[in-house]
Amino acid sequence: MENKDLVNLLVRKKYITSERIKEAFLSVDRGNFVRENLRDMAYYDEPLPIGYKQTISAPSIVAVMITLLNVEPSNKILEIGTGSGYNACLLAALGKKVYTIERIPELRKQALENLKKCKHREKVVSLLGDGSKGYPPEAPYDRILVTCGAPDIPQPLIRQLAEGGRMVIPVGSMMFQELYIIEKKNSEIKKKIWGDVAFVPMIGTYGHRWA
Ligand code: SAM
Repeated sequence: MENKDLVNLLVRKKYITSERIKEAFLSVDRGNFVRENLRDMAYYDEPLPIGYKQTISAPSIVAVMITLLNVEPSNKILEIGTGSGYNACLLAALGKKVYTIERIPELRKQALENLKKCKHREKVVSLLGDGSKGYPPEAPYDRILVTCGAPDIPQPLIRQLAEGGRMVIPVGSMMFQELYIIEKKNSEIKKKIWGDVAFVPMIGTYGHRWA
């Protein structure tokens, strides 16, 4: 199995429906974002552990979220939850600049190593901190992708979303959430729900609190 087999599977199952997103997935080898001992598993549609009780999401949900986000080449993007760096590299393939925040220092370090093998790495800025507060210095963002489950939509993320911008975010409990698509138009927020998802929790000021 290799990366193109995974992409073909995602196309066959209609998780990838656009040529541009297909090209992005072909340009980012998922094998570079999983641990050495799990490399054989990288090209299956499965979430995998990346250490520190965190996961790289299943490629099908990554494709769904990226499709819903509708990234344009001129977009400045904020990602909350760098994890392995896989999603950040895919977003960089589609947009202009990606700011990605991770709260676990060891994971950020691992992601920086992984991102060395990302063709689009010069478009990725990796940050350490509580992404539930967003990243005000570079706001507003045309697109915001949240890859951890929040109890509610963090207000700072709504503030930092550009006019005409779009955010995709799982909202719900520590274990199960609904995937929201948020749009800001004429300073108003419109919400649509894609369906049920299961992400690791967002931990932070506007996230869940670790017991
Ligand atoms: N996008 C990732 C990838 O491509 O591998 C997968 C992310 S994983 C499902 C969710 C990540 O969100 C974890 O690495 C977790 O540590 C991180 N996270 C949780 N709460 C956070 C917060 N408040 N700020 C930043 N990262 C957070």
